[in-house]
Amino acid sequence: MPFADVIGQEGPKRKIRTALGQAAIGHAYLFSGDDGIGKRLMALRFAQALSCETPPSSNQPDSCGQCRACRQIDSGTYPDLLIIEPEQDKANPQIKIDQVREIERHVIYRPLLSARKICLIDDADRLTANAANAFLKTLEDPPDHSLFILVTSQPLRLLATVRSRCLTLRFSPATPEQFQGALALRQAMAIEDARFLSQVCRNRIGVALRTDLSDLRSRHDRFFELCRDETLAHPTAVLQQAEDLSKAQPFPDVIDWLAHGLRDLLLVTLGTEQDLLLHQSRIALLQQLAESLTPADVVDLLDVLHTLEQAPTHNLNLQLCLENFLFHFHQTIHRDAA
Ligand SMILES: [Zn+2]
Repeated sequence: MPFADVIGQEGPKRKIRTALGQAAIGHAYLFSGDDGIGKRLMALRFAQALSCETPPSSNQPDSCGQCRACRQIDSGTYPDLLIIEPEQDKANPQIKIDQVREIERHVIYRPLLSARKICLIDDADRLTANAANAFLKTLEDPPDHSLFILVTSQPLRLLATVRSRCLTLRFSPATPEQFQGALALRQAMAIEDARFLSQVCRNRIGVALRTDLSDLRSRHDRFFELCRDETLAHPTAVLQQAEDLSKAQPFPDVIDWLAHGLRDLLLVTLGTEQDLLLHQSRIALLQQLAESLTPADVVDLLDVLHTLEQAPTHNLNLQLCLENFLFHFHQTIHRDAA
């Protein structure tokens, strides 16, 4: 069933289906929550349940997923659904006033086929100030047949007056079990890989589905490359590594794999069960490093990493912060050898 495609999200799902079942649908909804956890998919399933030509006979409202309306909604060609999103090719994607005019033109006419004239606004926090104010006018006096679904991971960036006119449904990441179950269904995947993605993608299924697993693994492997004594033994090697890492895009990704590697090292120094490690296949190396480390040593490294994480937003020189981190890192984990 189409609503079942949305992993988890039982709360929002129940509210939408209740509204559909009672024909008590509001004019504006705000789907709020992390990126990649099914908000947009839920909006499309909502639109399908409202517009399906051959809905399944069941006491739970849903759509067939196969009729013309359902297929056109999936492909974005349904005449009663307008999808608005920021222009993606820009550094600072925005939803502009022209797009709000398009919304006005869309909702002014009665629906042709569906029960409602639906407008899905993805990344609604990207409305420019002008566009948001213009949109507010439509939202203050919506045509009876209109339905607005705003999707955002940054609800506080929306005008409070826009937010207050919407019924907010909060979305949260799936549980590790839901996440791994969904991945197992969609992609035949080894349990170790599913667990790896579950931790690194923080159970956001949409993020996992657009992630290249082998690419992700090779980036995480750089942590273990840095752990080898030879990699950072020479100061010039530290400077070179710092320069390379400072150019990595996106930079938060470097912080992410360093933090995950240090977390594993911390767990091993604490003698935690191997099951909890992200990189279980590296247990031998981690144990070898942990022999000369205390948990406090690793916590100190996490503190230095925290400074590094703040470098881009605190106007600090990223490369210097990386050099500082790598020197600390090497001195700490190879103290005995020094
Ligand atoms: Zn259908």
